[in-house]
Amino acid sequence: MSCRIRKIAVMTSGGDGPGFNPCIRAVVRMAINYDWEVLGVKGGYGVWINGEFIPLPGRAVGGIISRGGTFLGTARSAEFMTKKGQMEALRNLNEAEVDALVVIGGDGSLRGAMALEASGFPVIGLPGTIDNDLYGTDMAIGVDTALNTALQAIDKIKDTASSHQRAFLVEMMGRNSGYLALMAGIAGGAEMACIPEVEFELEDVAREVQDAYVRGKTHCIISVAEGARYNANAIAAYLSESKEETGFSVRVTILGHIQRGGSPTAFDRLLATRLGAAAVEALRQGKSGVMMGLVGNVVKATSLEEVTTRGKKLDPAICELAAVLAK
Ligand code: ATP
Repeated sequence: MSCRIRKIAVMTSGGDGPGFNPCIRAVVRMAINYDWEVLGVKGGYGVWINGEFIPLPGRAVGGIISRGGTFLGTARSAEFMTKKGQMEALRNLNEAEVDALVVIGGDGSLRGAMALEASGFPVIGLPGTIDNDLYGTDMAIGVDTALNTALQAIDKIKDTASSHQRAFLVEMMGRNSGYLALMAGIAGGAEMACIPEVEFELEDVAREVQDAYVRGKTHCIISVAEGARYNANAIAAYLSESKEETGFSVRVTILGHIQRGGSPTAFDRLLATRLGAAAVEALRQGKSGVMMGLVGNVVKATSLEEVTTRGKKLDPAICELAAVLAK
């Protein structure tokens, strides 16, 4: 298919994550390679409605490959959820003579991309979310760095937990996704992971803590996703107030936004670069309405429709493995 694209825009939206900058860089440099002009959308869908574009020549993305966050800025915008907001965005894109758009973001951002596509505007989505909950990619951009940040925290907490014979509840991001808490828990040797995908009772957690003590452990680490049935503070309150002796004194560490920041790992930089370049290639091939993702070790296109309607489930075998290895 012949390519009539001359100018594209790139934007980041929703929650940020490490790796967004290398992804923008790859989109820009790849597009320039084909003599396309690139505009950056400052501040996600919200600001964009007011027409905030900045020119992105190759030099504009120099030095950002190692930086966390997104130099374009990001936001959540209720206005863009409305038909009126989307019409404003389309109008601004047309006024700026943009031929196609690349959106880097999570589930919501890709729904926004799909809304624009439905109006006939060419859009390619890229998976950018630390939740790793997007169908159509094994890993989303930012996940590996966030996971390593959580893991470093667990390692450090374990040192102090062992010294003081403590049980630590380490809360991680993930309102609807337990990926980070589960994987950081496995990689960090946690005794239990409490995640939204698995039902549990407070008594179950107390039993795990008791078991760890009885088995002779010097610490008990429990990774908790923020969206789990009970959050870290609720579990800690129960353990501390419970009449049942658990053996350990209990502490809580909430990692919070620390997981979103930091220099992207090699994996995230390479993933972001491959997917950013693939987005430009997809546009050259006349594709639209798809997300480029990593499946196996191959970059593949999946329709945004599928990505946003088919959630990615955690592998139950991994959940079982976590339980077995904690013994
Ligand atoms: P994260 O996974 O980090 O939460 P996200 O991209 O899922 O990132 P959201 O807040 O869900 O973050 O979505 C980002 C923005 O995308 C919203 O603020 C809104 O502007 C737009 N958006 C979300 N859902 C839709 C939708 N159904 N239609 C149009 N736009 C949407």
